[in-house]
Amino acid sequence: MAFYKQPACRHAVWSVPATIRSQMPATLFQKIWDAHAVRRLPNGQTQLYVGLHLVHEVTSPQAFDDLDAQGWPVRAPHRTFATIDHIVPTRAQARPFADAMAETMAARLERNCARHGIPLFDLSSGAQGIVHVIGPELGLTQPGMTIACGDSHTSTHGAFGAVAFGIGTSQVRDVLASQCVSMSPPKVRKISVDGRLAAGVFAKDVILSIIGALGVKGGAGYAYEFAGDAVHAMSMDERMTICNMSIEGGARIGYVNPDDTTIAYLRGRRFAPSGEAFERAAGRWRSVASDDGASYDDEVRIDGRAIGPTVTWGITPGQSVQIDARLPNPGDMPADDRAAVTEALEFMSLRPNQPIAGTKIDVAFIGSCTNGRLSDLREAARIASGRRVAPHVRALVVPGSQAVAAAAEREGLDAVFRDAGFEWRGAGCSMCLAMNTDRLEGREICASSSNRNFKGRQGSPTGRTLLMSPAMVAAAAIAGELVDVRTFGEVTA
Ligand code: SF4
Repeated sequence: MAFYKQPACRHAVWSVPATIRSQMPATLFQKIWDAHAVRRLPNGQTQLYVGLHLVHEVTSPQAFDDLDAQGWPVRAPHRTFATIDHIVPTRAQARPFADAMAETMAARLERNCARHGIPLFDLSSGAQGIVHVIGPELGLTQPGMTIACGDSHTSTHGAFGAVAFGIGTSQVRDVLASQCVSMSPPKVRKISVDGRLAAGVFAKDVILSIIGALGVKGGAGYAYEFAGDAVHAMSMDERMTICNMSIEGGARIGYVNPDDTTIAYLRGRRFAPSGEAFERAAGRWRSVASDDGASYDDEVRIDGRAIGPTVTWGITPGQSVQIDARLPNPGDMPADDRAAVTEALEFMSLRPNQPIAGTKIDVAFIGSCTNGRLSDLREAARIASGRRVAPHVRALVVPGSQAVAAAAEREGLDAVFRDAGFEWRGAGCSMCLAMNTDRLEGREICASSSNRNFKGRQGSPTGRTLLMSPAMVAAAAIAGELVDVRTFGEVTA
C-alpha cells in the first residue's frame, strides 16, 4: 500500500505560494496547487497537502480498517470532519435504524471517529447533513484550501475559491494516514457565462447548459474556472450548484474566484475565523483569486442570456434541452451520436422530436447536495405556495442539512410544502442515489433537483430521472408533468 508517512508538513496552514511571491499572473488553481505541493513523486505526480478532509459513512470504513491494520493514527484529526448522509433514513431517524446495514455503517463511523478524535456531526448534533452542504455552512470550507472527500461531488466546495476534489476509498486511507494525496495537476479551462440570467433561469440551468455544450467528458483532465457576469452575480448557494456538477461534465475540480459574496457568506460561520483574524483571512482569501492576465489552457464563453429552464431527457446529464424545445432525432445526428441518443430515448420511453414539456411524471424530488439548500427550498416553495401536488405524483422535499431544515421551518417553508401535498423529510442524500428507502419503484419517472440521471441511479434499475432546477421540480409536481416555470408562476431569479 502506498502510504506517505511524511514528517509534520510545512504546509499545515495556508501559505503564500510561489506564484504570488514571483508576481507572475497566475490562476487560483496554480496558486493553491503551488501552496500545497509537498514534493514531486518519482511517478511524476505531486504529493499534495490536504487542508480539509471531509468523511462520511460510505467511503470511509475500509480506509479506517486499513489504518487499523497498520496500527497508524489519523495524521491530522483536527483537519478531518465527518458526517452521516448517504444511508440516513429521512423519515424514521430513531436509532437503531430499521435498516440493519444503515445502522451498521452509522455505528462504524461513530466508532472510528471516537477512536481517532474526529469530530462527527451526527443526527444528534443539529449540524448533520450532506457532507457538501455542511462543510460550507459550518465555515469549514474556505478560500485557498485544498479539500478532499470520498465523494465525487466534492467539487462543490470550489465555489469558495478552493481546490476541492473527490477521492476514492484508497485515497481516503492515504489522506487519513498522511494528510496528503498524490495527483497530477489538471489543465485549467475558464468558462465565462456572460450577461444576466432571465427570470426563471437558475444556476442549475447554467450548469446543465454548460455540460450540454461541452459534453459529459469535455472536462476530463481539466479544472473548470467559472467566471463571467452571470456567475459573479450568483449567491454562494448558486455557485455551489455550478461547481457541484462540474464533475458531471468530466471536470473533477470546479471553482469560482472568491469575492465580496464569498467573504460575506463566511463571516460569523462557526469554524471561520472571527474578529481581526477574519479580516486578515479575508485579505488572504482575496489574494488567491486568479490574476488579470493569468493564462488558461482553454477558454470558453457562454451567453447567459440565451439560457432557458433546462431539463435532461436522457441517461446522462449532457442529454438536455430547454423546456420549450423538442427532443433530438437520431436520424438527424452524426453517425457517432446516433446509438447513444437512440438508447437514451428508448430507455426513457420518449420519442424523437417530441416536446419535452408535457412529459408526465410520477415522483418529484427536491433535495441533494446540488439543490438542497435554503435558497433552493425558497424558490420551490414560492412555486408550491397555495397550490396542490397533482394527485398521481409522490413529492418529497429533503433538506440538505439539519441547519437548512431548521432555517426553512423558521420561515414556514415546511408548512408551505406540507399544505401543498409534499412530504417534508429529515436531512440526507435521500433519493439522489437511493441508499435508503427513498427510491423509485419500477418504471417511475422522477423530476429531480439532484445531479445524476444514470440508469438505476434512484434505486430502480428501470426508473427514469429528469434533472432540473428545484423551481422546475416544484412546478412539475403541481402540474403532474413538465412545464415551463417562466409561465407557471412568480419567479425571482
Ligand atoms: S446528495 Fe447525491 S451526489 Fe450529493 S453526496 Fe449525497 S449521494 Fe452524493
